[in-house]
Amino acid sequence: MSDLGPSPTVVGQPVSSGTATGAREVSTRLPLPATVRLDSVVWLYVIPIAAIHLAALTAFIPWLFSWTGLALAVLGVPFYGLGITLGYHRLLAHRSLTVPKWLEHGFALFAQCSLQDTPAKWVTVHRMHHVFSDEQPDPHSPLVNFLWGHFNWLFYQNTATRTIGSMQKYAHDILQDPFYMRLEKSCLGPAVYLAHLLLYPIIGAVTGWMTTGTGMGALQFSLSLFVWGGLVRTVLGWHATWSVNSLTHLFGYRNYETNEGSRNNWFVALVAVGEGWHNNHHSDPAAASVWHRWWEFDPTYCVIFLLERLGLATKVIESKTARRARRRRGVRKVEQPVALGQSSEVVFVDLPTPPEPHRAVRRRNRDDGGRSG
Ligand SMILES: [Zn+2]
Ligand SMILES: [Zn+2]
Repeated sequence: MSDLGPSPTVVGQPVSSGTATGAREVSTRLPLPATVRLDSVVWLYVIPIAAIHLAALTAFIPWLFSWTGLALAVLGVPFYGLGITLGYHRLLAHRSLTVPKWLEHGFALFAQCSLQDTPAKWVTVHRMHHVFSDEQPDPHSPLVNFLWGHFNWLFYQNTATRTIGSMQKYAHDILQDPFYMRLEKSCLGPAVYLAHLLLYPIIGAVTGWMTTGTGMGALQFSLSLFVWGGLVRTVLGWHATWSVNSLTHLFGYRNYETNEGSRNNWFVALVAVGEGWHNNHHSDPAAASVWHRWWEFDPTYCVIFLLERLGLATKVIESKTARRARRRRGVRKVEQPVALGQSSEVVFVDLPTPPEPHRAVRRRNRDDGGRSG
């Protein structure tokens, strides 16, 4: 079982008091990754993202408002967000816990309701981000510019992330699962998204008819749930996830002197089900929890904790502190995931070795005591 709220002062390398405010010691800008082709727009991403944003603007029409719709939008962001934070991120990308296959696949299907790419593509981009954080070729560093880190990176072809070769390199374990392969090769993901989206107007029409007894009342309530619970919630969920890539690599405080610009940002933590404690995450990517200080509440870990209590989650990776203490005591936790290899410090499955120049940069940064401009 993982501990709630391990002390940050003994996990990783805590920042000195002089840097605890999060101020970057050396400002750094990055050019676009060399593998990005600005002449190749990925319309498959641009069109649905733009269309759903535009459609969500109808929320400003007063006739389409209902308090139920607003509540569904607000509550839906963390609810559906768990498909990404727990399913895609901690379960698939980091293998921080193990759940039965039916539940793992269920989380992956649930994540389709957030319309955020297939598991293999999402995991590929995220593992690559951890290997090259805020250095070339990080796919979405905001050091290029804020909008690039937030969503522009999605709109252009990047041969380092969107090819079968890159997925084989970074998400080999995902592609080995026929279920995820099916999601990769078919339209099942978008179909699940559309199907769940249609439930809103259908349920809205039925309940609107029952409560108002009029066709117009049913239509108003139906569209209200569709716009607020479906469209607005989708847009808010996207920006919550994208903020983890953009805001938490620019704004916030640092608990640890990690070798990139990650920050802990309370606002992002609030909207992204705990993922805003991003500096904690970068300091210990394998751990299932990012709850390091008492106020750094991590709702995603609370759900993992609950799953573990229910016997549905096993091999939940503890904090680095707990793992080290266990090793010192000579106790080998039986719940360490086999896929992570022999060392509990290893973060990813089949993680590729960074090329020599990159490793040299990492070494140089460490020798510099942090970032070298
Ligand atoms: Zn990051
Ligand atoms: Zn991560």
